[in-house]
Amino acid sequence: MSIERVGVIGAGQMGNGIAHVCALSGYDVVLEDLSADALKHAVEVITHNLHRQASRGIIKDEAVETVLARIHTTQNLDDMKDRDIVIEAATEDEAVKRKIFQDLCPRLTDKTMVATNTSSISVTRLAASTDRPEKFIGLHFMNPVPLMQLVEVIRGIATDDATFHAALDIVKHVGKTAAYAEDFPAFIVNRILLPMINEAVYTLYEGVGNVEAIDTAMRLGANHPMGPLQLADFIGLDTVLAVMQVLYEGLADSKYRPCPLLVKYVEAGWLGKKTGRGFYDYRGDHPVPTR
Ligand code: NAD
Repeated sequence: MSIERVGVIGAGQMGNGIAHVCALSGYDVVLEDLSADALKHAVEVITHNLHRQASRGIIKDEAVETVLARIHTTQNLDDMKDRDIVIEAATEDEAVKRKIFQDLCPRLTDKTMVATNTSSISVTRLAASTDRPEKFIGLHFMNPVPLMQLVEVIRGIATDDATFHAALDIVKHVGKTAAYAEDFPAFIVNRILLPMINEAVYTLYEGVGNVEAIDTAMRLGANHPMGPLQLADFIGLDTVLAVMQVLYEGLADSKYRPCPLLVKYVEAGWLGKKTGRGFYDYRGDHPVPTR
């Protein structure tokens, strides 16, 4: 299966990163979002990140314009009709994703593969909501996409070998490394990482340490490049909560219970870096802990 034309649905932090690496590797990209603002912001972010790569000598200066010219933005799913694969990277909400697949699939050719970048939702269940479960797969890119080397590849129960091998080829083509994960809640990385972040929020909630102490402790004490609360802000607290809920419900084990403080931050709309405030306040010159 030869891949040349890629569609990306959702132009948030993951969608813009996926569009970036796909266009950089030579694919023609259509990037769709409901929100015109999200698309505008995505192109600004991609432009900024390409210039940064050029200034560091990772890509040539001339490549910036060539790569940008390969990315077309749209608010209309009809523009996905000639794509070889469409990668869904919209909000981590099963109802939102199901609705997207329902609207998308009738517009595609029979050959088009569909992938989801979900962090936690069952690939088999999402596949079953489409007209092509055998051509459906999980491609879980990591944040920030241009920097992170891993892509988890998750087969649904019906995913055929051709789709699986085409997905592995795409991961290789964009210069990343694949890790195969079975289709269980949150796969490998988030099954391990997110309960640790949730535990850090409990540590804050119970007053064992404040934001700064918890992040410093894990950076210097466990040699993590980023503290767990800073990382949570970076992922997006809505996404962290959604993944914990999937783990809690999917594995029916109380050890995955989302921390009530995490719920409170999400209810406040303090979703982390993307909204300017989470466990840190990013609205000034330097991030300031909010607890
Ligand atoms: P985000 O909030 O930054 O972006 C989501 C985007 O989806 C928004 O621009 C929104 O307008 C758009 N959207 C919502 N409904 C839509 C629809 N019906 N049609 C088109 N666009 C729609 O979220 P994100 O962090 O980019 O996460 C996106 C997906 O990637 C989620 O499934 C998430 O679990 C997954 N993911 C996130 C991370 C992370 O660290 N944030 C890492 C890996 C995977």
